[in-house]
Amino acid sequence: MSSIIQLLPDHVANQIAAGEVVQRPASVVKELLENAVDAGATDIKLIVKDAGKALVQVIDNGKGMSVTDARLCFERHATSKIRLAEDLFSLGTKGFRGEALASIAAIAHVEMKTKQAQDELGTQIVIEGSKFVSQEVAVLPQGTSFAVKNLFFNIPARRNFLKSDTVEYRHIIDEFQRVALAHPNIYFTFYHNGSEMFNLPMSSLRQRIVTIFSGKMNEKLVPVQEGTEIVTIEGFVSKPEFAKKNRGEQFFFVNDRFIKSGYLHHAVMAAYDGILKDGAQPSYFLYLNVPPNTIDINIHPTKTEIKFDDEHALYAILRATIKHSLGQFNVAPILDFDRDANLDTPYSYKDLEGETPTIQVDRSFNPFSDDKVNKHYSSYKKPEPTANWESLYVGLKQDTDVFTSNADFSFETDEVTGSLFNDEEVEQAVHNSYQIHKKYIVSPIKSGMVIVDQQRAHQRVLYEQFLTNMTVQQASSQQLLFPLDLFFSSGEMELIEDLKLSLVNTGFVFEDGNTDHVVISGIPVNITESEVSMVLEQLLSDLQDGIPESSFSQNDTIAKSMAKSLAVKTGTTLSIKEQENLVNGLFACKDPNVSPFQKPTFITMRVEDLDKKFAI
Ligand code: ADP
Ligand code: MG
Repeated sequence: MSSIIQLLPDHVANQIAAGEVVQRPASVVKELLENAVDAGATDIKLIVKDAGKALVQVIDNGKGMSVTDARLCFERHATSKIRLAEDLFSLGTKGFRGEALASIAAIAHVEMKTKQAQDELGTQIVIEGSKFVSQEVAVLPQGTSFAVKNLFFNIPARRNFLKSDTVEYRHIIDEFQRVALAHPNIYFTFYHNGSEMFNLPMSSLRQRIVTIFSGKMNEKLVPVQEGTEIVTIEGFVSKPEFAKKNRGEQFFFVNDRFIKSGYLHHAVMAAYDGILKDGAQPSYFLYLNVPPNTIDINIHPTKTEIKFDDEHALYAILRATIKHSLGQFNVAPILDFDRDANLDTPYSYKDLEGETPTIQVDRSFNPFSDDKVNKHYSSYKKPEPTANWESLYVGLKQDTDVFTSNADFSFETDEVTGSLFNDEEVEQAVHNSYQIHKKYIVSPIKSGMVIVDQQRAHQRVLYEQFLTNMTVQQASSQQLLFPLDLFFSSGEMELIEDLKLSLVNTGFVFEDGNTDHVVISGIPVNITESEVSMVLEQLLSDLQDGIPESSFSQNDTIAKSMAKSLAVKTGTTLSIKEQENLVNGLFACKDPNVSPFQKPTFITMRVEDLDKKFAI
């Protein structure tokens, strides 16, 4: 039998390797920036067009390459950074695998210009899909410029697989920030489609963080510092009161390389134990330096995961160091044994209930408004004439399919399917609701009782309101006396820009802001001023988790996110009136059965079910 195994030609091998190294335009950004850093550059420019799909260019003032190296650098396993296998354990550079440029050249059009300081002239090379197109001598400044165009031009499947520009741009910002944060002593600039997105002069670490993440970051940071034999730790963590809902600003650098580590993240969270609200995420920028022979970087093609020799010790040191810093800067609570009882809150105060947030139902929202309803409405004896939630409620009786569609609620008998409440029961349900465990609202209905989950129900009500506002585009907004100035990072600003139209449709009014902040002069009626920043932060965090592609799902994400932020939470005491509004608001919804997150909002129990339970 003839032999069938062949060595793959280089360009095929390179394309295969590219699959691992280059997943998206952001991967090119990462590799080129890292090469520029390794070349000792002090000034690095990143130029991107169409979220990197059209162009990723990195220009550096580093040491450049000789004519021979300029040609060689595109070969696979061609590197100047290691020679022996042992060198892997004394790495001082970002690169060492010698495959980034070979991979990139295999799947894009690359134009490289490079010149060393000692050379009179430089070299210019064009290579497309691993084929050298031209090589010329040229007059060039010192340093290197790589322009990568038409990424994946020869792999249509990969090109089609790329996400929207917003998503790909977000990934590029992430990679840029990671390199820029690791090297505050390098001047970085970043242009996207001709606009300058970041301009980061050489600075201290603190200044670098603040310049990237906007001025409001400064007051949030607590310095961290520790030196031991196995690790030195430097950097900043955020004060617990500034913890965010998303994990956006969490960075570990090991020997100046950004890495991901669930284990070390856990150590940081352990240091915050007991001082963060549930689910809140601190920001952190932690720089660990360890002897290079105690880590293995070569366990992942993109080199963002590494193996430590002594993970357990690192965990303990990191946790203790951060705990100490938080304590030293007085941000962690101190146990107070000598408390003066006279200073305690007086009983009469202590036992008073906190003010409960009001649930606001959009008063103009009446999906069933017609004359019949209005007639019915006026003949109906309202417990409180000022509220008009009843109109929603009464409308329900006309629109029976709200309930007939509840096929999964098989326990409902025909008799009650058409209408959940009858006329007398309107009064009953209205007057007899009861809140249990600050979580459920129980109301009697004709067939038995309904138990409503307050948080999920309110999410449903708000979600439908927001969605209606956004799609029908007639939300009212409340004018703010003093416009709000909110600062965001430039990545967040881009997202907000994308969302502006949808946000305006929910009732936000934006004034002309700047590149790093938005000015809001009007807000939706169902938000209070103090909730605005929380709502927007939650929204940005939800969007970063999964940015929707179409405008429909963008509206949906906004409505869901705002409903989640603004819904009354489990644990909130509701007045009778609020309970009623909520229950009735829920049953006026198009889809009252489930929360926007597809969780059941209520259950019903028939009298027969209760009878059965008592029969035993
Ligand atoms: P690696 O970085 O792992 O060595 P690359 O494929 O990224 O592999 O680069 C190959 C070689 O090309 C590098 O080792 C370096 O010698 C050279 N090189 C790449 N980029 C630059 C640059 N911006 N300036 C100078 N030399 C560079
Ligand atoms: Mg490299």
